[in-house]
Amino acid sequence: MYDYLVVGSGLYGAVFAHEAKAHGKTVLVIDKRPNIAGNIYTENIEGINVHKYGAHIFHTNDKKVWSYITKYAEFNRFTNSPVANYKGELYSLPFNMYTFNKMWGVVTPEEAAAKIEEQRKEITSEPKNLEEQAISLVGRDIYEKLIKGYTEKQWGRDCKELPAFIIKRLPVRLTFDNNYFNALYQGIPVGGYTKLVENLLDGIEVRLNTDYLEHKAELDALAGKVVYTGPIDAYFDYKLGTLEYRSVRFENELLDKPSFQGNAAVNYTDRETPWTRIIEHKWFEFGKDENGNDLPKTIISREYSSEWKPGDEPYYPVNDEKNGKLYAEYKKLADAEERVIFGGRLGEYKYYDMDQVIAAALECAERVLN
Ligand code: FAD
Ligand code: UDP
Repeated sequence: MYDYLVVGSGLYGAVFAHEAKAHGKTVLVIDKRPNIAGNIYTENIEGINVHKYGAHIFHTNDKKVWSYITKYAEFNRFTNSPVANYKGELYSLPFNMYTFNKMWGVVTPEEAAAKIEEQRKEITSEPKNLEEQAISLVGRDIYEKLIKGYTEKQWGRDCKELPAFIIKRLPVRLTFDNNYFNALYQGIPVGGYTKLVENLLDGIEVRLNTDYLEHKAELDALAGKVVYTGPIDAYFDYKLGTLEYRSVRFENELLDKPSFQGNAAVNYTDRETPWTRIIEHKWFEFGKDENGNDLPKTIISREYSSEWKPGDEPYYPVNDEKNGKLYAEYKKLADAEERVIFGGRLGEYKYYDMDQVIAAALECAERVLN
């Protein structure tokens, strides 16, 4: 009999399991996938750590989280600076002086601010949706070329139907700073994320290819408490209806040349290109192998966004009003399950970044393990 059965070996499950073991608890971790690490799984191919479930850049302002996670991996100094490709025109992201110069020919911060001020006038009240929020932040030109097409591809919904907060994730700067994140700490774990999760799970029993919901009764019998990090609606067999998720399909290609696009991420912000972005994985580690040698080949992933349907991997919770209400109903059911803790991006149906997942898992561990 284990003290805890942790369902899901992603970041939430791994941090919780690690803490439980450190508190002297016995833990069994299971995952339905053939590998650990959930969405941050990386696989080394031709010397390149490929982010198999989408590109992940660690960034945080939370000193506690940073000092925690750097105990389990060394992080490099990678800084995310994606490029936007709008019908062959290239723009610097996030929105900064390089972007404004290319878009409008403005040179000084005052000129850029004046241009934005002029264009945001069309929004006269508190922005109610993503479109209004975007125009009010950066004006219509940038909205049309760099936001609208990308966002509608990523979310499969009109920008008027999406919540404003999604676009507030992106910084707007009147400086020549194209760091995508406003974060004190940023980087990629040297040797990949899988190694980081392996370190967290060191000494803990893990069973892969094991679906909790398919073998619930027998697995429940193995432990006193359960930490469940899968989709909350799946846990309850969708009895109140399905929450919506966005899924992503990755098309990976190994190319026999040293560089495809010269940057880790290029976003295709027009509506017509079917993929949202192309990731070139080697640039997360500066194009070098673990010995510091230049890698002769490259691996790229085209990302296609789609609506989730049963059987697909759920990636992004769609945190709009309708889903928020349904989640609140599921949350009531979850709170009534005394033996089970629901955690993580899917268990809490929250658009969490990695640092927030770590903070949430540590907070939960502190609450229940002490
Ligand atoms: P997951 O990693 O999804 O882990 C859940 C695990 O539970 C999975 O392994 C799954 O197989 C398992 N599971 C589910 N159901 C069952 C079941 N029934 N039985 C057994 N196992 C089950 N965050 C950042 O900070 N920076 C980024 O750059 C970034 N980029 C992202 C890009 C993409 C494409 C996506 C989708 C997310 C990104 N994130 C990023 C967010 C980040 O991936 C998450 O915050 C984090 O990985 C969530 O960890 P988790 O443990 O909650 O969930
Ligand atoms: N976004 C955009 N154009 C871009 C990149 C992002 O309009 O080139 C919008 C899009 O709506 C996205 C949001 O900004 O959902 C937040 O972007 P972020 O990169 O944080 O999303 P992630 O993929 O990390 O969840």
